[in-house]
Amino acid sequence: MGTVAQVILENIYKTYPKGRGAGEPGSQPVSVLRSINLTIRDGEFMVLVGPSGCGKSTLLRLIAGLEEITGGNIYVGDRLVNQLPPKERDIAMVFQSYALYPHMTVYDNLAFGLRRSTAPASNPQASRLPQWLETLAVETSRKLPKGLRYVPDREQQIDRRVREVAQSLQIEGLLNRLPKQLSGGQKQRVALGRAMARDPQVFLMDEPLSNLDAKLRAETRSQIVKLQRQLGTTTIYVTHDQTEAMTMGDRIAVLNAGQIQQIATPLELYNRPVNRFVAEFIGSPPMNFIPVQVKAPLLIIHPDFRITLPESWANVLSRYDSQTLTLGIRPEHLSYSVPAPKNLPVTVELVEALGSETYITANLAGQVLGSGASHSSGQTGNTAIAARIEADKSVGIGEKIWLAINPDKIHLFNPETGLAIDP
Ligand code: ADP
Ligand code: MG
Repeated sequence: MGTVAQVILENIYKTYPKGRGAGEPGSQPVSVLRSINLTIRDGEFMVLVGPSGCGKSTLLRLIAGLEEITGGNIYVGDRLVNQLPPKERDIAMVFQSYALYPHMTVYDNLAFGLRRSTAPASNPQASRLPQWLETLAVETSRKLPKGLRYVPDREQQIDRRVREVAQSLQIEGLLNRLPKQLSGGQKQRVALGRAMARDPQVFLMDEPLSNLDAKLRAETRSQIVKLQRQLGTTTIYVTHDQTEAMTMGDRIAVLNAGQIQQIATPLELYNRPVNRFVAEFIGSPPMNFIPVQVKAPLLIIHPDFRITLPESWANVLSRYDSQTLTLGIRPEHLSYSVPAPKNLPVTVELVEALGSETYITANLAGQVLGSGASHSSGQTGNTAIAARIEADKSVGIGEKIWLAINPDKIHLFNPETGLAIDP
């Protein structure tokens, strides 16, 4: 068995024969995942993020072997695992619902996977009594004081491992409790511990924090990252929450409608989204999008403002002269400013003062771009704009203000394909 536990997903497809409304006559096959190619490096913390229903859980279940792939190959380490049952894939999964055994103590929940695995985790050469003799020794010494009882080798190994894991998760004090005697956060740690105890090659985690309240979620988030660093176990972590993705992942794979949109580090995703979907999904509040017209070499024109882009755009913009593109700008790259042709005149519609900063939602009145043309009549030119402004600027609802765009932070997208246009 290889020691390098990378996971390779090679051209994975998944189609369910029937949609969730199965049973209804005429329900069609649903294609849930298409041409998924992703390599998770040895020891990497990979986050899989995307909106609800995009196929995240399905992909994890395919990797775990709980579901059969329709096409493609899955490698764990150097083994092709397509045909292997879950037990033989050396993968541990943590679910959103903790799925602890309710009638077992925390200790036994942690020990469960270890007892069930067929071979001792380590030291397979250790001398062992025949099974019948071992059972006899356990039975006859059971009533003796603790120190004199016969404890099989294997049970001692398990005990060491359970206590080690309990210590690293700070749940040693809970080992004798039943799951119903634990808080949500404690249950979550036991579920993590159960996965860790087996010391698998790979961890799969499916939205493991979504049942926790905000504060506990943030705490557990950093705890999981810290643990993963210590253990160095290759991890695939699924979430719909972009903040979780940005704060936890070494790299992030953004999934939408069953297809990977982009695989990159958190900052690459934020700074260089490859398309409009990623641009909108990563970052909070989301990026603003405004239709503009290009006037080569460097001018971007909207009925309400005109901006000269940095010199680096000249080359690529020459190809789009007089075409309409979508300008993307994040709320944090707009600022409260003064009247000027390059600034956006907006009407404030909503003010959220957070103390440290203030978010506003405003309306860019504007006429319709190219409103002279007959086909665009009847449209309104209103665009909702979110902006972050300093906390000490007081603005009121209905007020007209000017917002400045930081030209170094502008993104441009092809309005038809949604693909980013890079300078
Ligand atoms: P996510 O975890 O990203 O929210 P899922 O992987 O659970 O998404 O589901 C992706 C899509 O696959 C959904 O449209 C869902 O309805 C569908 N789906 C999931 N499991 C089944 C199944 N067993 N049969 C049919 N459709 C399914
Ligand atoms: Mg899911």
